[in-house]
Amino acid sequence: FGTANPQTDKSKKLLMLINPNSGPGKAQQIYKKQVASVFGEAETDHEVIITERANHAREIVQSLNLAKYSGIVILSGDGLLFEVYNGLFERPDWEQAIQYPIGMIPGGSGNGLARSLGQWLNEPYLANPVLVSTLNVVYGHLSPLDLAIVQTAEGKRLLSFLSIGFGLISDIDIESERLRSIGEARFVAWSFIRVANLRKYPAKISFKRAQRKTSNQIPKVRPPLMHSQTFEEEPEVASEALPDHLPRSQSVVQEVETLYTEDGSGQECGDGGQQNHKRGVESENESNRDNHALTDDCLIPDLNEPVPEDWETIEDNFIMVHATYQSHIATDAFIAPEATPNDGIMWIMMIRGSTPKSSIAKLLLGLDGTHVNVPGIEMIPVVALRIVPASSNGYLNVDGEVIPWGPVQAHILPRRGNIMTR
Ligand code: ADP
Ligand code: MG
Repeated sequence: FGTANPQTDKSKKLLMLINPNSGPGKAQQIYKKQVASVFGEAETDHEVIITERANHAREIVQSLNLAKYSGIVILSGDGLLFEVYNGLFERPDWEQAIQYPIGMIPGGSGNGLARSLGQWLNEPYLANPVLVSTLNVVYGHLSPLDLAIVQTAEGKRLLSFLSIGFGLISDIDIESERLRSIGEARFVAWSFIRVANLRKYPAKISFKRAQRKTSNQIPKVRPPLMHSQTFEEEPEVASEALPDHLPRSQSVVQEVETLYTEDGSGQECGDGGQQNHKRGVESENESNRDNHALTDDCLIPDLNEPVPEDWETIEDNFIMVHATYQSHIATDAFIAPEATPNDGIMWIMMIRGSTPKSSIAKLLLGLDGTHVNVPGIEMIPVVALRIVPASSNGYLNVDGEVIPWGPVQAHILPRRGNIMTR
């Protein structure tokens, strides 16, 4: 590993999915004016599908012949990628399918992942977001991407690549949907209205803190890429005998552990190892609610079981709790300055009800990363968290989409996705 960057298979074409209604409705125009010519010059063979409605992309990838393409490129906002990742997650071969090469070209009003990649790669993203992102697709190197499994009270599981949370930022994100036509400025515009009228949410937050090395031990540069990915006509099905169903995930987990635990003894999540594996097997036998039990398992207990002893719990009123795995959740929302796309960490940004309005008002100048030094704004690196709301309503936000209000938990799948980069 680490000798050459894995790349998309240039002998196959890319599948490009375009949401004509994302953001201010310019995605098709962006394709014609900017993307098509770069692809043409680079001889990047591709097929375009314009989505016809919400969930169209999700249905397409649920049954897509992945071996036919070298990857899926999204020209839209984060919402369309959320559909694609969950379509892949709903496949019988989901463990392999979620590793499928993904490219992201910003065309929506919420482009958190594209902006985060630009930040991580130190690209002049803001100068030309579409061009920078299109070049990432054309180069087609694959970089590992942290994903997360979200488990809801109804036993549903979702795959997430950006964030999960409730309160101020979630409310702004969801309620500003109606401002979609103004494009990316919607986030700032709505925040003025929302902060004038703060809501507080009683809730219980539990989390397993990430064990991080001191900052001089964390590599400053992009870590070497570490795996190559091919999708053959008949993907190899992981053997039942393997302890971790995916040879790669085992090594990936170990790598992250070595990177971020003091003793390297391995505690990516939950209480690790055997007990959880057993729990996973039991839940698979006992339930038919979905086919994701065996991965879920190794990391966290069921939502109706108590959290492990090494988790921390905070019961309070919150103005917001938002866990994010990328540095930006929108172009102008630099929520977790230390986050990288594949550090195996979810950063919780937490503001409690007792925080003075003057601290919160500073957020209105922009979520520009300086908020991490504002008293009353807490940043907590975790590998798993559980949210148990005690109020009757609110918006739970996963990657910018609303899910039913109620207990929910999430854990990181470090480096499980593959994103196209230069
Ligand atoms: P934005 O960043 O502007 O929100 P997204 O790409 O996130 O743009 O898309 C917003 C929503 O549009 C997503 O929830 C997606 O499911 C939905 N969607 C996808 N294709 C279409 C379509 N053809 N018409 C309407 N909605 C669509
Ligand atoms: Mg991260």
